[in-house]
Formats: sequence, structure tokens, C-alpha cells
Amino acid sequence: MTKLDPRALAEAVSIETGLGFIGSEGRTSEGVRWLELIPAGHPAGQTFAIRAEIGWRRIDVRFRLGSFASELMSSVRSADESGRRVFRAVLDACSNAGADVALNLNGATRSHKDDAVWNESWRSFGFAVGKGMLAINEGNDAADMRLIEEWTTRVAAAVIALLPVEVEVEEILDAHGLPEGAKMRIEVNRYERDRRNRAAALAIHGHRCMACGTDMAERYGPVAEGLIEVHHIVPVSEVGPGYIINPKSDLVPLCPDCHSVAHRRSPPYSIKELQNMLRYDCATSGNIRMQSGQ
Ligand SMILES: [Zn+2]
Ligand SMILES: [Zn+2]
Repeated sequence: MTKLDPRALAEAVSIETGLGFIGSEGRTSEGVRWLELIPAGHPAGQTFAIRAEIGWRRIDVRFRLGSFASELMSSVRSADESGRRVFRAVLDACSNAGADVALNLNGATRSHKDDAVWNESWRSFGFAVGKGMLAINEGNDAADMRLIEEWTTRVAAAVIALLPVEVEVEEILDAHGLPEGAKMRIEVNRYERDRRNRAAALAIHGHRCMACGTDMAERYGPVAEGLIEVHHIVPVSEVGPGYIINPKSDLVPLCPDCHSVAHRRSPPYSIKELQNMLRYDCATSGNIRMQSGQ
């Protein structure tokens, strides 16, 4: 039997987002169990935390900034247009999947669709995604872990959309006026920016191939968990450097087979064309079966 393991959660979310996390666990004063992730390599309090609370048939995943994360908060507030768009698209997908989504700005609840929040002054910022009516906390730890990973990864995908390319977190001085550790950076380099778009695309579209419907983990088991490729509908080489990728409309998950076939032509075959090829495959294998049955 699998346990609810914060380290396994940290590993899964790190792989999916390209940002290293460490995990911990605990219970609220009401006895509700939680798993929490913070970015690896930074003192707690200077960055952020993502906490998943596992309630009765319900999961609530909350993002909050650390008490000493004012530098990071101003960077998040000034996230570029592409980051804000990805953030909103991921939260839209959560909302479309039946979750309650709410921002918390300066202690007040706000809609994630409200663009005005970006122009206000921020004293505190957080957001939460809560999903009820789930078959969770009923004694199946493996199934619970899958749900916790799914919803935590979605929240993490929204968070990394707002992280700047590079953040320098202010040095925090200790009681003796000495800096606590060296200057810290959360670096989201170009590779990780692609990872950010990948994480957003999967948070929005799921892990099933959009052409053939295959979920690799369903076909091969846990070993293939998360094995899915993300395809740019319009090739990267054809869009200008200033182009803002929309992970909802520009990116699609494809299994390795369909992805390879899509790139047998340049520009690549569309999803519709791939689906038509698969219908051809069904039709011909159907004929073969019919013939062999004669
Ligand atoms: Zn496929
Ligand atoms: Zn591709």
C-alpha cells in the first residue's frame, strides 16, 4: 500500500514543472492532513509554499508567499503578459474541471479573471484551487496520491507561469546584521520557460494524446506516468521571437507515435489529419479482420 508521501509529490511536481521542490507533511489543528511543497535550495519564508489539504472527499491546494518574500511578490505582480495569460488559462482549466478558484489579494477574495488585480498595490497575495466531490480520503492511498499530484501540479503550473526569468531575493539580515546565506536566485531559464509552457499545456489539456486518445500510463502502467509529448501546432520556427505562446490553443499533448507521424511532413500534420489517418487505420484493420473471417 502506498503512503501519502510528500517526497514522492515533490518529485512528481519537480519533474512536471522543471523547478525543484522539497516536500513536508502535517495536520491542521482540526486534524486535516496536508502535504506541502517549497522550492528547493531557499530558506522557507523567502519564497513560497504550495499546500494541498486532503479533506473529506475534497482537496484544497493553496499558494501563499512566504513572510519575507516581498521581492518575489513584486516580481509576481509584474509578471509579463505571457505569464499572466498562462496563469489565467491554467486556472480557467481548473475552473472548467469543476474546481473553485479564488485569488486572495490584500485579504480580500478576487476572481482570477479580474485583470484589475495586476494594477493594484499588493500587500499580500495568494490563491487557492479547491475540488470537492472527489473519491479521495477513502482509504486508497495510491488513488489519493494521483489526485493530490494532479491538483498540486495544476497549481504549480499556474505558479511557475508568474515566476520571472530571474528573481533576486533581498538579503535577509540576521540578528547580528549578517546576511543569511548568499543572494538567492530562482532562475527560470529558456529551457524552463518551455517547461513552463509544457506544464501549462498539460494542466489544461491533460495527459491523454489529443489525436489517438492514448494515456501512456493506462497502456503501460505507472512506469509511463507523465510520458507524453507537447507539440507546437504552429512550428516554433514559424512564429516570431515576440510571439506569445497560448498553451491552450498553440500546444497539444501527443503520444510519441502520433507526434512522430505529425512531423512526417513540414509543416506538421494537424490533429484532425492525424485523427483521419487513425480512422483509416481502423477501417483497414477492420477490412483485414473481415477478410480473414471469410
Ligand atoms: Zn497518439
Ligand atoms: Zn511537435
